[in-house]
Amino acid sequence: MTIVRDSFYINGQWVKASSKETLVVTTSGTGELYATIPAGTVEEANSAVDAAAAAFTSWANTSPKERGELLTRISEKLAERGDEIALCIANEVGMPLMLAKGIQAGLPTFTFADNAQRASEFVWEEEVGTSTLVREPVGVVAAITPWNYPLHQIANKVAAALAAGCTVVLKPSEVAPINAFILADIIHEVGLPKGVFNLVTGVGPVVGEAIVAHPKTDMVSFTGSTRAGKRVMEIAAQMVKRVSLELGGKSANVILEDADIAKAVADGIGKAYLNSGQTCSALTRMVVPRSKLKEVEDVAVATAAAFTPADPITGASFCGPLISAVQQQRVRDYINKGIDEGARLICGGTDVPEELSKGFYVMPTIFSDVKNSMTIAQEEIFGPVLSIIPYDTEEEAIAIANDSLYGLAGGVWAATDEKAFEVARKIRTGQVEINGGAFNIVAPFGGYKQSGIGRELGKYGFEEFLEVKAVQHN
Ligand code: NAD
Repeated sequence: MTIVRDSFYINGQWVKASSKETLVVTTSGTGELYATIPAGTVEEANSAVDAAAAAFTSWANTSPKERGELLTRISEKLAERGDEIALCIANEVGMPLMLAKGIQAGLPTFTFADNAQRASEFVWEEEVGTSTLVREPVGVVAAITPWNYPLHQIANKVAAALAAGCTVVLKPSEVAPINAFILADIIHEVGLPKGVFNLVTGVGPVVGEAIVAHPKTDMVSFTGSTRAGKRVMEIAAQMVKRVSLELGGKSANVILEDADIAKAVADGIGKAYLNSGQTCSALTRMVVPRSKLKEVEDVAVATAAAFTPADPITGASFCGPLISAVQQQRVRDYINKGIDEGARLICGGTDVPEELSKGFYVMPTIFSDVKNSMTIAQEEIFGPVLSIIPYDTEEEAIAIANDSLYGLAGGVWAATDEKAFEVARKIRTGQVEINGGAFNIVAPFGGYKQSGIGRELGKYGFEEFLEVKAVQHN
């Protein structure tokens, strides 16, 4: 049954959309209609910012403990509805249900609880010489989020901003928005004061730009493509608003000569293909010793077989479809580009088996003998496409890793952690995992270079939403 949402959450209530225009959300596993949502107007976006601005002073003056208690209740309700949220995102995004439970539903639940605790324990004042430094919330935050880990990206912003004492207008991705409506339902149930959290859906150039441009918006926290991030920054610059950007990536996984090749390559395939490769920090460039190229290719092709996609709800695979027909076509175009530019296709390609012809599937694809100057090594593909890039010296491997407009994440494999750490320090990215180090939900996440500005998660993510005031005394 199609889900129909026809209202926005503004000033503590559900307000019917003024326009009849709706946006369609598809089930990525089957291509069928999943839901419709309202397309917001500039006026609706403005009224959400006005509500957030009106609510700011009193919310900023609540005690951190009080805010923490409300966030804890949001986290508890997210946990209660975890199965429903996972199913929703498995439909919208296409991540296999079992993975969606832990990742797509689990991470936001943790992030709300974590920020609740952070607000309660944070040191809000400190003495520096003859000054008292006071940390204060930035103000009204416009939160704009993408579709790939939709509720996780929302929680990173909304939980930290609310904990800090900011009020929020959320504009979630129009491609995977139903999870955001569930969050708004929960926030309403929990009874956050009116205007503290507002939700308006619609397209970026209308609703997104309106909430960024509104004079009462103090900060924009944006996650999405570098293209849209640049536009957001351009608009925000007109009023010198604080901007935090989490953008694209093209991360390198550097495997050194003395590493355990089988382990490194198998792990690297998983890191490239998680969420069908629709992960901003995916390790999509595998940088390997030329002397080990054949061994790397054999392990890579054998491991990729486990990522043959299946229906995210009924299937049993680590990989589902891509999110949309548009994304599927984009990825196929990149695969053709790789072939045209002379990379060697060793697995996958643009075709899919007959039984996967309905949803938006792409087979796990690997190119070898890729040169870092090729389009498939430079541009973010956002699909299950790995580039294996051979190198001759360690210096060359590091240079390849750093030869990118992006600087979001990376990996290094070596015989010892000490050696891997030494190389990790030379990689210009916001995160580097060594010898398969796992994702850490309280470690700062964000990019160097065109991967963005600022950090999310943990202490650093929380502090993004704070100003610092120095009060001089005698
Ligand atoms: P997108 O840029 O198309 O959209 C992201 C959000 O921005 C959506 O809500 C969209 O409606 C809005 N938007 C689009 N144009 C806008 C404009 N002119 N003004 C204001 N808002 C606008 O990105 P997407 O396709 O939803 O997501 C995929 C991208 O997100 C990838 O590039 C990926 O790397 C990036 N991403 C980055 C991170 C990170 O933390 N660095 C995490 C997830 C995704």
